[in-house]
Amino acid sequence: MLDIQSIREDFPILQNQVHGKPLIYFDNAATTQKPRSVVERIENGYYNVNANIHRGVHFLSQAATEAHEEARKIVQRFIHARSSNEIIFTRGTTEAINLVASSFTDECLCEGDEIIISEMEHHSNIVPWQIQAARKGVTIKVIPVTETGELCLESYRNLFSEKTRLVSVTHMSNVLGTVNPVRELIDMAHAHDVPVLLDGAQAVPHMQVDVQELDVEFYVFSAHKIYGPTGIGVLYGKEEWLDRLPPYQGGGEMIATVSFEKTTFNELPFKFEAGTPDYIGSTAFAEAIQYVERLGLDQIAAYEHELLTYATERISTFDGVRIFGQAPQKGAVLSFLIGDIHHYDMGMLLDRLGIAVRTGHHCAQPLMKELGIEGTVRASFSFYNTKEEIDHFIEGLDRVVKMF
Ligand code: PMP
Repeated sequence: MLDIQSIREDFPILQNQVHGKPLIYFDNAATTQKPRSVVERIENGYYNVNANIHRGVHFLSQAATEAHEEARKIVQRFIHARSSNEIIFTRGTTEAINLVASSFTDECLCEGDEIIISEMEHHSNIVPWQIQAARKGVTIKVIPVTETGELCLESYRNLFSEKTRLVSVTHMSNVLGTVNPVRELIDMAHAHDVPVLLDGAQAVPHMQVDVQELDVEFYVFSAHKIYGPTGIGVLYGKEEWLDRLPPYQGGGEMIATVSFEKTTFNELPFKFEAGTPDYIGSTAFAEAIQYVERLGLDQIAAYEHELLTYATERISTFDGVRIFGQAPQKGAVLSFLIGDIHHYDMGMLLDRLGIAVRTGHHCAQPLMKELGIEGTVRASFSFYNTKEEIDHFIEGLDRVVKMF
């Protein structure tokens, strides 16, 4: 059992007031709050361990390098990768997908080839592919979403052809909360000899991920959604794939030798890490992972499920409520509309009550179009949220509904 009150004390921001009301932070799918230990890591890094990493002979540079490389190992263990060479630090999920889209397209795609994504993707798993597809004349095929907000597996099966080169889908939807059946998705792709990228931005904060067990080729996520700092994230790639793909950006760190005649590239993981990395961010990221591990991902998942079930039950009592995403396998995301109240009005009025929710298209405009709406109100929960906060939220909704 998680001790929620003592957990809340680790997150100073949760004691803040907004518009004179206690903050109720239900925007965790956009970004999570940071525990004291993560912020202290950043502070300690800059105060005591700051020097540019790799190749430094002096004490501080070596200490900073060790901390950064230890962080890589912590990420490796967290997602059960085989080797720390398979962990590439990026600026986040978005950059990680852009990296794969660019390098994979350069190496593996020709005119007429096809890739498969889904209707529930975040823009960051759509637009990079569109940019690359336009460059090479590649076709993007899209797995449709059912009424309950699940991927239609029958359609998925039918999208494969001898031209399919990659599947890139989200592990968990940031709008619908749906946890996709990644085992089936990967097995079906592998049966066609097609590699898979999973966007784990929403999944890693809520469940155990084992990339070896999944046997997935690429897995990407952002630190800031798992209680870590902004501006850093991870690309996991199977070593044979990362070896095969060309570098994404050029610069310092990613080279072995440089001359005007010929440059050779560094080995993994450095081949994909041009320039000075966020070596303070990486250690704070590792601390965030260890924080989550101390709580236990199974305990987190169970508690967040309880919150989601409670919030869903309570919100279902409103007349005219529509909940988007009713999959049986669902993370702690509740997207909804009530009657014809505009999502933006709802968000603004809840904000006056100190309640932070997200409104709009959630960077998933194609999904909104398919659902026939402009946007939703989205409440997304974390282990530091409570049922009492959900009660306040329901009271807030009630007030808003009565105003209209
Ligand atoms: N994919 C999903 C499913 C997301 O929820 C997000 C963030 N909302 C992203 C990708 C992009 O993550 P970032 O902005 O951290 O790169």
